[in-house]
Amino acid sequence: MDSKYHRTLSNLPLGEFRYYEKIGSTNDEALTWASKGAPDFSLIIADEQTTGRGRTNRKWYTPPHSALAMSLILRPSTIEKKHLSRMTGLLALSLADTLKNFQLDPKIKWPNDILLKGRKTAGILVEPSWLGDTLDAIVLGMGVNVLRNSEPPADLLSYPATSIESELGQPIDRDKLLGDILKRTLEWRTRLGEPIFIKSWQAYLAFRGKRVQIEDQNHKIVIGEMRGLDSDGGLMVKDERGKSITIRFGEAHLIPLE
Ligand code: ATP
Repeated sequence: MDSKYHRTLSNLPLGEFRYYEKIGSTNDEALTWASKGAPDFSLIIADEQTTGRGRTNRKWYTPPHSALAMSLILRPSTIEKKHLSRMTGLLALSLADTLKNFQLDPKIKWPNDILLKGRKTAGILVEPSWLGDTLDAIVLGMGVNVLRNSEPPADLLSYPATSIESELGQPIDRDKLLGDILKRTLEWRTRLGEPIFIKSWQAYLAFRGKRVQIEDQNHKIVIGEMRGLDSDGGLMVKDERGKSITIRFGEAHLIPLE
């Protein structure tokens, strides 16, 4: 266990905490732990992930000693179950607020990435855990490039990457960053169903008002102007014929065109 993390986390109303020097994927471990009864708001942190995952099993790189790899287990309340489509927003908004507090200018590349100066700094992966047909838990996973060494080599990436250290011009403590993110996650969680949640999430959207291309999970391509978020966190776009279209989360893949 890493005592530094323990100190930071001891003042927060966490469930339980597990720390790993090296792990396959924090989300995989969290899904297993959730199925074995992890309490609400339990947290897994790993210094290094060897099989970190993005969406559709794309690889998420977490080299040692430089990144934040975390997975939170939520036992959703009845109200939270009505707002599952806002769960990616919960982490995105919490990280974006934290980075803004460091005087950075974070943007959310809908649906699941955080950009600094147009480069990917963090990725979010939300996965449900089912018991039969009952939703038992939700795992909120996030990988953040904190120190410069966490930036993967450009030839491994489909989108340019950066780190908080590169954009800030100085290193920051991973445990302080984690504490700040979790405080905001706890706060935003209580406001998940409120209009301010969507409004604040939307305020961080990258490429708003710009021309974008979105490929949905059925590989249908929409090109149009990004308008904002609907109340489910879906992306509203005005297509080239002026028709309003809302794209749901799923595996939607967004490419800026200008
Ligand atoms: P894209 O990166 O093309 O927008 P995506 O958002 O759908 O795709 P995700 O599933 O969110 O991708 O994340 C996986 C992708 O992120 C990988 O395919 C890789 O290109 C990139 N990636 C992996 N690790 C990192 C990292 N540490 N920092 C920045 N980008 C990364």
